[in-house]
Amino acid sequence: MPPLLPDPADAPPAWHALPPDEVLRRLQVDADRGLDEAEVARRRARHGDNRLPQPAPSPAWRRWLRPFASPLVLILVAAAALALLLGHRGDAGVIALVIVVNALIGQLQEGRAERSMAALRRLSALQASVLRDGRAQSVAAAALVPGDILLLAAGDAVGADARLLEAVRLQAAEAALTGESVPVAKSVLAVAAEAAPAERASMLHSGTHLSAGRARAVVVATGAATEVGRIAGLTAAAVEPATPLERRIARFGRALAWAALGLFLLVLALGLLRGLPAGELLMVAVSQMVSMVPEGLPVAVTLALAAGMQRMAAQGAIIRRLSAVETLGATTVICTDKTGTLTRNEMTVQALWCAPQPDGAALAPRDLLEAAVLCSDAEAASGDPTEVALVVAAARQGLEAQALRRQWPRLAEQPFDAQVQRMATLHRPLAPGEGARLIVKGAPEAVLARCRPGPALHAARAQAEAMAAQALRVLAVAERRLAPDEAAAGLPAEPADLGLLGLVGQIDPPREEARDAVAACRAAGIRTVMITGDHALTGLAIARRLDIARDGDQVMDGAALERLDAAGLREALPRVAVFARVQPAQKLRIVEALQAGGEVVAMTGDGVNDAPALAQADVGVAMGRTGTEVAKGAAKVVLTDDRFTTLVEAVRQGRAVSANLKKVILFLFATSLDEVALLLLALLAGWPMPLDAVQILWINLVTEATLTLALVLDPPEAALMRRPPRPRDDALVGREAIGRIALMALATVCLCTGWMAWRQAQGVPAGVLRTEVFTLLVLCQWFNLLNCRSAQASALSGLTGAAGNRWLLAGLGLSVVLQALVLAWPPLAAMFHTVPLPAGTLAALTGLAAGVMLVEELRKARVRRRARGPRRAGG
Ligand code: ADP
Ligand code: MG
Repeated sequence: MPPLLPDPADAPPAWHALPPDEVLRRLQVDADRGLDEAEVARRRARHGDNRLPQPAPSPAWRRWLRPFASPLVLILVAAAALALLLGHRGDAGVIALVIVVNALIGQLQEGRAERSMAALRRLSALQASVLRDGRAQSVAAAALVPGDILLLAAGDAVGADARLLEAVRLQAAEAALTGESVPVAKSVLAVAAEAAPAERASMLHSGTHLSAGRARAVVVATGAATEVGRIAGLTAAAVEPATPLERRIARFGRALAWAALGLFLLVLALGLLRGLPAGELLMVAVSQMVSMVPEGLPVAVTLALAAGMQRMAAQGAIIRRLSAVETLGATTVICTDKTGTLTRNEMTVQALWCAPQPDGAALAPRDLLEAAVLCSDAEAASGDPTEVALVVAAARQGLEAQALRRQWPRLAEQPFDAQVQRMATLHRPLAPGEGARLIVKGAPEAVLARCRPGPALHAARAQAEAMAAQALRVLAVAERRLAPDEAAAGLPAEPADLGLLGLVGQIDPPREEARDAVAACRAAGIRTVMITGDHALTGLAIARRLDIARDGDQVMDGAALERLDAAGLREALPRVAVFARVQPAQKLRIVEALQAGGEVVAMTGDGVNDAPALAQADVGVAMGRTGTEVAKGAAKVVLTDDRFTTLVEAVRQGRAVSANLKKVILFLFATSLDEVALLLLALLAGWPMPLDAVQILWINLVTEATLTLALVLDPPEAALMRRPPRPRDDALVGREAIGRIALMALATVCLCTGWMAWRQAQGVPAGVLRTEVFTLLVLCQWFNLLNCRSAQASALSGLTGAAGNRWLLAGLGLSVVLQALVLAWPPLAAMFHTVPLPAGTLAALTGLAAGVMLVEELRKARVRRRARGPRRAGG
């Protein structure tokens, strides 16, 4: 019977001190097959999920009570007590009802927002590549169990503590664990049992990542049993910090609350001066104050951000940081990779150029491709597209990659690295007698400089330029035959004295839809800058096809960038459309220079070395398919399909989020203002109170809550991408908004006071008049809601169809039903002191209320005319 797996509670063995075979034996796993699914399930049941323990979520009753613990509710409770004191038992009941309904709506909204956040967190969870059932597969890091065989490459995050089984030039960045910022070398050799975690070179630790090389390792500890788990102990759940928008809106809400308090005192003072009964007056003043406090605003913000995140996710952009939603909307420059993002990353070899050999013999294209394939890792159907293209081209010449690689076993390798732009391999012959081969392939600049000088190099440079000018991605291939003693020394870090074999040119067609996305950005005032590791001419040729570069735009290559200081770079930036032969480290400088010029920068990236630039950018965007886990970890957004179009779509949704929140603020402001103004006017004019306290509460806490919610779910307006980006710190309520608020409130107040004056002259009883004003105000709110949807487009356009918002229509429908009930259903009518209104009056009121829409429509028509003006003047 095999020995039992170690109990999770026992002290773990010193895995780092055991040889790999012993580790595998104790963990009962075959390194070539991995665990099978049944065994994984068994171990998972035993060891639990691979995550750090989370503090228990707060109990449900506490979550349900939370909305009641606000100052607003306390004021309402005080008002209810006051009503009881005054003998208005009914009003006290209504206030209690309003408190409950309002808390319920808040709870539902919050629950919805929280659920969508949780769903998105699951989407952006860390992945790990493991060997199970003899197959390599990608699983959520949380599903790892002890005994899993991890397959890791540079850029991968380590999901659990693991003992190395195989390590090729492996380096790990362990700052998260040890604080040491320099990557440390790792190897399979066992270390002393008493070595501290930082010195366990035979181990990989959860929370760290690989900065170079590749590895195979067996998981020895998961979850709380890992080193970070032990250090962290019981970690608090990471709380997402408030986004700038959330903070600004919270500040805005507080300011409004203070204004409400001031108005409360004003209403009270005016009423007392007029000699109104203190009790009723206090009730009205309190209701008015409560109504002005935008208590639903924080939830509206969360909901707007969550809705934005969800829409972005549906399009393929996963948001990892909430703040990215709004920053995306403010983006002014997008720095984008070329390969795979703007192009399809489907490479095809289109040109071969064989270098003249020193002995004068002609080299066959077959020989060139043979070397290229040996110095590649891809298969015909999988791997780096650049290398796949080489394998496919070789196959057409009758060269079979696997046979070739068996014939020339690889002794050592330097994987392709975007920093040095080349890859090198060392091969020994299977047949005795031949020398070993050192093969290098990479960007021509990186390879030619390591070749023996000669006329061939001159010709090669000219050829490489010519290929690049045709939008081809160019690789140079060079080789040296080694003497046996040379081969024994291994692969030199800086291969030199190579013989050039030739050049391979590959075409990677641009994505057709990217051209439209670039045009959309241009219309939206967003500049697109291409950043590529390819040759300047290749980059420029593609940039021209996509209209990223136009006449007069420049290309800057990494070398030129290196010569400029920060100020010089900033000065040159506005004219540069393409950065070519850029090393990942230089991306950081580009981001910083753009930011120094006041730009809000979105930057894409995929490699380990891109992480600093991704972290520095306002919105770091990682590639979901080709990106490394490190890049994803540093980014705020992950594109599941790697496409530029998806990013631009996310920008559009980001703009919609802030536009929608502004609509909410506009609506809340306009509708609070008209009530206050109406109340103050009535007090000044010596009229009876236009509204009852409970009616004010109804309008604000019930009707409004259902409507604002709908407004944040508006789809993006077509006009959104035709205006320049909003400044990062633009006012929540700008000049235009103030004008619109004033206009809407003024229209509403004029209609209401006009109606009151007319009906009073007719001698209508106060109760009826109040019901009429109450209804008129609610009707005006509905029309104002439609008014707030767009600053320019007619309120009646885009109600249905793609631009439609079924939530808004549903919210309106619900409000109509509720209002009808309050007017016509005796129990509610009694509670809210209303009387039934005849159909004729209702029709008249509706027609009148439509006036607020007419006023806004006239304003919008004027704005639209003025926007068209210059064109008409020009022709
Ligand atoms: P980008 O991501 O912008 O396309 P890369 O950094 O991938 O740029 O590539 C830069 C240059 O490095 C290419 O022009 C090519 O010459 C070379 N190169 C790319 N991939 C490989 C590879 N797998 N092996 C060797 N050289 C490569
Ligand atoms: Mg690349």
